[in-house]
Amino acid sequence: MDYTIRENCNGLFFIKKLKFRNTIYSPGDDVILLGGEGKDNTVLGKIGLIAKVTSVQFPIMLVNWYYCKKDPVVEEQHLLHIGKKELIFSGYEDWVYVESIKGKINVLTEKRYRMLNPRERDDERTYFCRNYFLPKTPNILDSLPRGVCHCNNPYNPDAQLAPCIVCKLFFHPSCSGNDELCIMCHD
Ligand SMILES: [Zn+2]
Ligand SMILES: [Zn+2]
Repeated sequence: MDYTIRENCNGLFFIKKLKFRNTIYSPGDDVILLGGEGKDNTVLGKIGLIAKVTSVQFPIMLVNWYYCKKDPVVEEQHLLHIGKKELIFSGYEDWVYVESIKGKINVLTEKRYRMLNPRERDDERTYFCRNYFLPKTPNILDSLPRGVCHCNNPYNPDAQLAPCIVCKLFFHPSCSGNDELCIMCHD
């Protein structure tokens, strides 16, 4: 583990760049870490600070955790609108050891993610985030951009949309129960 201590603040030494297992990490990087209760025992977060405390042998990191679709905190009524690779800022952070890092992940904007093909979306390091916090926004539906379907639900880049053969507007086949006609055009 290589690092250079840059600033000193009362026994807390901040580190701007740290090399760990041939990868350089800096505050702001998105990472996958060991931990949590998921079946793969990994959690996702953004590095806030990297620091060395005199009393602790190894550097530590302040990590801002992301929630993802599989987390139980995401309520069932929101599952339709959250993309399969979508991350949500939890608003929670913890100090963890640098040794818990498994690697970097790539967190795109929703707009960049939308332009990826299905194979690129399935890349295990690829995610997207629309920059909202779950605990601070009890009804996250209000903070998401609205979709084009008559259901007026927030846009989910992973939800299937089809053009209506009559009005040409895009809709969710799951909303109208029909693959070709939107809910307004079939009765
Ligand atoms: Zn819909
Ligand atoms: Zn229609």
